[in-house]
Amino acid sequence: MVKVRFAPSPTGNLHIGSVRTALFNYLFARHHGGQFVLRIEDTDQERSKQEYTDDILAGLDWLGIRSDEPLVYQNSRRELHLGYIDKLLKESRAYPDPEGSAAVFFRVPTSGTTVIADLVKGEISFQNKDFKDQVIRKSDGSVTYNFAVVLDDALMGITHIIRGEDHISNTPKQIFLYEALGFELPKFAHIPMILGPDRSKLSKRHGATSINEYRRSGFLPEAIVNYLALLGWTPADGKELMDMTELCAKFDLDRVSKSNSIFDVEKLRWMNTQKLKSISAETLQKAYPDIDLEIIKVIKDDIVLLNDIPEKAVVFTQEEIVYTDEQKEELKADSAQKVFHEIDAKLGDIYQGSIEERYTKAQALIDSVVQSTGFKKGQVFHPLRVALTAQKSGPGLKFLLVLLGQEKVKERLKNALGC
Ligand code: GLU
Repeated sequence: MVKVRFAPSPTGNLHIGSVRTALFNYLFARHHGGQFVLRIEDTDQERSKQEYTDDILAGLDWLGIRSDEPLVYQNSRRELHLGYIDKLLKESRAYPDPEGSAAVFFRVPTSGTTVIADLVKGEISFQNKDFKDQVIRKSDGSVTYNFAVVLDDALMGITHIIRGEDHISNTPKQIFLYEALGFELPKFAHIPMILGPDRSKLSKRHGATSINEYRRSGFLPEAIVNYLALLGWTPADGKELMDMTELCAKFDLDRVSKSNSIFDVEKLRWMNTQKLKSISAETLQKAYPDIDLEIIKVIKDDIVLLNDIPEKAVVFTQEEIVYTDEQKEELKADSAQKVFHEIDAKLGDIYQGSIEERYTKAQALIDSVVQSTGFKKGQVFHPLRVALTAQKSGPGLKFLLVLLGQEKVKERLKNALGC
């Protein structure tokens, strides 16, 4: 039975790279019908903060990466950890600080080789003589990361340790401890790092790194999950757009890349547009209940971020529009005025029937004006759009005519005719 964990230290907000680690663990567990658990590694009491734990938990929950067991706080297992220090001291596998502090050192093997049979990176060998005895209890009485992580992983029955390759240098030290404590070794999989476009480690310099920042700026959890799954992994069929269920079905470690990946926010934005397309207007409207559903339907395929909705809806919802002097000149033109007269004269007919019927009638009205005036399409469309929105581009005119409603359209045509 596969059991994996995500073990963040609550010393900062949930980082995009950590989410990718959490996700790979989660997908691996689901793929193998195993378990995924969450452990908050808060032994460093000075740097750990509740607000960071809250940020991490909220972010994971939003993404749908949830623990199969109650959350474990590493610090609550302190007594257990300290008991194992005493055990190693008794067995002389560890010794107290010769200088008399509360620190305890673990004796590492002085010869031989330690090999990580890494599921992603392949075999990685270390010469044991290169390691110094390790501090396992610090002078302040707290246990070190390498010691606590081994105990917790072993005692929680973790079978696979999937984490960033920045931890490779810790792994031999942890293997020494597994051996000294008589625990069975888990399998290790060190996943490549995520770099910024300049190939340095992804950091604030490259833009937002905290997942909750992405959430606030209107990215969908589905897009982040799908995008991060592909950062260092590809399915055998090369498919790009997948939901969590499909990712779980397809993900395995054998197709995880050995080399680092580059974070590309443009690709993430593209992914977001794709996911937005597959979400119903009704669902999107839940985020903006004040915006008319029909408006959301029209603008939905034209947005990149959820937060773009209000901005794109403005053209339908604003009470007043103001023409620039340049626009007034355009609206004054004889041809434009003729268009406004003709639209205005037959406008009343389009506001009956279902919404689809209205759109059809609105389009027919515009087409009939093109016919009757003999103008080029642009000579009709452009001034009409300026008259209705004071913009150069935007949603289709039939949508504007219908969704602005008769009153607003009349009023704007009147203003345009008065130019
Ligand atoms: N708390 C460690 C970290 O956040 C966990 C590393 C590990 O997965 O062992 O880096």
